[in-house]
Amino acid sequence: MSTFVYDLIGLSAGICFVLALKGLSSPKSARRGNLIGALGATIATVVIFFYAKPESDGTPTSLPIDNLGWILGAMAVGTLIGVPAAKKVQMTQMPQLVALFNGVGGGAAALVAIVEYLSLGTDATTAVVIATVFTVVVGCVSFSGSIVTFMKLQELMTTRPVVFPGGRFVIAGTLVAVLAVSGWVVVALGTTPLLILAALSLLFGILFVLPVGGADVPIVISLLNAFTGLTVAASGYVLDSTMLIIAGTLVGASGTILTRMMAEAMGRSLFGTLFGAFTAKPQEASGAAEERPVRSGSPDDVAILLNYARRVVIVPGFGLAVAQAQHTVRELADLLIAKGIDVAYGIHPVAGRMPGHMNVLLAEANVPYEQLAEMDEVNPTFGQTDVAIVIGANDVVNPAAETTPGCPIYGMPILQVSNAANVIFLKRSMRPGFAGIENELLYDPKTMLLFGDAKASLTKVVSALKGL
Ligand code: NDP
Repeated sequence: MSTFVYDLIGLSAGICFVLALKGLSSPKSARRGNLIGALGATIATVVIFFYAKPESDGTPTSLPIDNLGWILGAMAVGTLIGVPAAKKVQMTQMPQLVALFNGVGGGAAALVAIVEYLSLGTDATTAVVIATVFTVVVGCVSFSGSIVTFMKLQELMTTRPVVFPGGRFVIAGTLVAVLAVSGWVVVALGTTPLLILAALSLLFGILFVLPVGGADVPIVISLLNAFTGLTVAASGYVLDSTMLIIAGTLVGASGTILTRMMAEAMGRSLFGTLFGAFTAKPQEASGAAEERPVRSGSPDDVAILLNYARRVVIVPGFGLAVAQAQHTVRELADLLIAKGIDVAYGIHPVAGRMPGHMNVLLAEANVPYEQLAEMDEVNPTFGQTDVAIVIGANDVVNPAAETTPGCPIYGMPILQVSNAANVIFLKRSMRPGFAGIENELLYDPKTMLLFGDAKASLTKVVSALKGL
């Protein structure tokens, strides 16, 4: 295949990636966008096997490409691990899967750059060495940082910010060391400095993510995703691959925009998200429930309260997705509407674990779009709301975000359900939400708790309501 044809096919893969992003910008076209993206990635992968890159002096080379067995073997292993993992993963575990895949992508780009650098030796131009250094640093940070985010989201480690005395100086010191060794690699061109650089970058990735609290972890995943994009673009420069440059730049740019949007929805700057834990006042760890009285009720109590309400606001959260109770919640809403009750869903932009998580979940149950009210729209109406029913949400209604400076979610806009006349919480226990902090609203005298899995509880409330 000539270089011209190869470039043309590469361009078509690039166009697929652009169209995929366009498709992914709306829930209606997202599935199609995803397929177009997959098509682009397939084209980009397959075309490599039919193109032999000419030597740098233009001398043609011939197929088959080197190390074909190794490449096909690696692809088989990747497919055997990736496909079942992606099929098996729950919707609620999607962010950690993205984190894992993203980290592996960054690590792979760094490894490829190292190998390419070693094979070039002293022939490498300064531009290639700088691109290699960039790829190794950012790829390693992305790899180790993503592994920590995965562990936090999977709750394999604490979801609270991990800070230690002098932590910010250790992070700053590691960053300075990374920059210094980067300079060393560019000047000295050796394998040892490059490997030291990789080790320091891996350490920096871990230190940089540890202080981020659970509630902010999805933002960091998006940031690391943008980093991986930039790493891939830089490795495209090292490998002289236009396709990698296009794909990497698209991931870098879209990841950066998503990171900004998520930080805005959380009401904080990116700097505050990453390093806020160092300036926050120390908080009591609250993984365990406090021994204070709460008012719990039965499904019948909840049904009676709802039956006599004039306006009900349903506040869905992560637990609704875990329980897969979206169809049952719609059944409840339909029943209330049939009784002449005014019903709205209060949607917080970061309820769940992904931006728009609740919109996607409720759309799956065909909840009419007009019933969904964004946070700014619904907040002023809580004063006229008889019952706010919080289903598997916690952090997004936690008043601590407004009242407790220094707490991990301080400054995040919340759904002000405490202004409603009655609040009902559907959850399984007194455990805190993702940010790991106590929610005072659970102890408020106007709050009633209905303990149990959201789907099972809602089913009982629906049948009690039908009997009234
Ligand atoms: P939270 O994680 O704060 O709370 C979820 C609640 O659901 C818990 O209190 C849990 O209590 C309950 N729960 C879990 N499983 C079930 C079940 N099967 N049945 C009933 N209840 C259940 O979720 P929120 O949606 O309120 O908040 C989202 C969090 O994610 C925020 O901290 C937000 O900042 C963060 N985040 C989200 C992003 C996004 O894009 N969506 C981005 C960045 C951050 P129990 O265990 O007692 O049942």
